[in-house]
Amino acid sequence: MSPARVLVIGGGVAGITAALDCADRGAEVTLVEVRPRLGGAAYSIDRDGWALDNGQHVFLRCCTAYRALLERIGGSGGVELQPRLEIVVLRPGHRDAVLRRGFLPAPAHLAGALLRYRHLTPAERIAAGRAALAIKNVDPQRDDGTFGDWLVAHGQSPRAIANLWDLIALPTLNLPAAEASLGLSAFVFQEGLLDSASAGDIGLHRAPLSAIIGEPAARELKTAGVTLNLRWRAQSVERADEGFEVHGEQDTLRADSVILAVPHERAAALLPDELRSDAPWAEGLRSSPIVNLHIVYSRPVLEHRFAAAVDSPLQYVFDRTPPDWAAGTRQYVAVSLSGARKEIAMRPEELQERYLPALRELLPRTAEAEVERFAVTREHAATFLAVPGVRALRPAAATALPGFAMAGAWTATDWPATLEGAARSGHAAAAVVLGG
Ligand SMILES: Cc1cc2nc3c(=O)[nH]c(=O)nc-3n(C[C@H](O)[C@H](O)[C@H](O)COP(=O)(O)OP(=O)(O)OC[C@H]3O[C@@H](n4cnc5c(N)ncnc54)[C@H](O)[C@@H]3O)c2cc1C
Repeated sequence: MSPARVLVIGGGVAGITAALDCADRGAEVTLVEVRPRLGGAAYSIDRDGWALDNGQHVFLRCCTAYRALLERIGGSGGVELQPRLEIVVLRPGHRDAVLRRGFLPAPAHLAGALLRYRHLTPAERIAAGRAALAIKNVDPQRDDGTFGDWLVAHGQSPRAIANLWDLIALPTLNLPAAEASLGLSAFVFQEGLLDSASAGDIGLHRAPLSAIIGEPAARELKTAGVTLNLRWRAQSVERADEGFEVHGEQDTLRADSVILAVPHERAAALLPDELRSDAPWAEGLRSSPIVNLHIVYSRPVLEHRFAAAVDSPLQYVFDRTPPDWAAGTRQYVAVSLSGARKEIAMRPEELQERYLPALRELLPRTAEAEVERFAVTREHAATFLAVPGVRALRPAAATALPGFAMAGAWTATDWPATLEGAARSGHAAAAVVLGG
């Protein structure tokens, strides 16, 4: 019998993972990607010799599918995983605080960090500890209510929400706690922080994202025998006598099975007619933006690999100085702004006006440094909008049409829109078209 022909549409982490799984199982796989590169929403750009990631991407030790993908494609050398969760939290005019896990088993591994957390009052720290224990009992499947309302009902002050809970909610859910889905928030805290002591150790991409994901993935896919069609835009998918026809701008590809691994805003147009009437996500699933500022200072200003900020419009700052820059000279600081609804509409000059003074307050050494370069990267639809009700909208990998599966960080993975969710969705979709 000839091998099954699988066509994967979309070359982000979901599509890459699905294509590799199918090739490993002996399928004849073609992956089409509209852009000239793989990596999807996680990529780097070159601005006159300056390699910038479109956004700072962080992962956790518990992101096992994503970490396995990096191992598989040979991208792991460009990432770094903390031996022990540690987040430095900066506050203008105050001493730094450090949230570091201890050596006790979960959830007691966080008790010391919370009790010493100087950006909350002692009473707020105790209340935060109680709420952390209570989150363990929230059903992550529930689809009603915001995390913010739940925190208030569990005795969290506005300051505790801003100075503690949002430090986790914003980067993982791309929304502040006040708006985020309670179920998804509970999932993040349970999976990342409360169920196992080492789960939340933080992984950073040190090399440019394209060197970690897109470029090695292209090599690995070719090695695995996958046909890679870059700059190939799928325009429609139709059921045919045997399998499916995927129509592009120039030609039509035929396959026994199709895995649709494009962002949700693009997916509806690529559904075969038979599935169009049952896609509530097409209208319902909205997006949340992320903005990153990239600044080269003439001298070192940030002494940490990354740090969070409170009492500041800044959220997280990262040291992204390339290793080949002479030590102690310039420093490249990236500022990541999640849930950036206001910032997405701001011009670069407005962003400079608001954020360079905020950086001066947070990092006093910037007072003696020149800003040598400043750039902005914007992602309007960085993630789906993780609000209450979102769970019901996320489609499963399997569809009503045998042989047609969906993948993508936005599909029903239990995870928020993350690299891990994307990798898991790719495995799930491959399992659907290959029969388990
Ligand atoms: C700025 C930013 C910061 C982020 N930070 C983090 C983070 O810290 N940690 C984390 O885990 N996640 C983070 N994410 C989310 C993470 O990047 C995504 O969840 C993940 O990369 C999505 O992968 P995907 O394969 O599902 O979709 P995508 O990466 O969007 O891939 C879909 C692919 O389909 C292609 N495509 C679309 N239409 C067509 C068509 N018609 N024909 C062919 N190809 C098509 C697209 O070009 C794209 O390459 C961040 C995202 C952004 C944008």
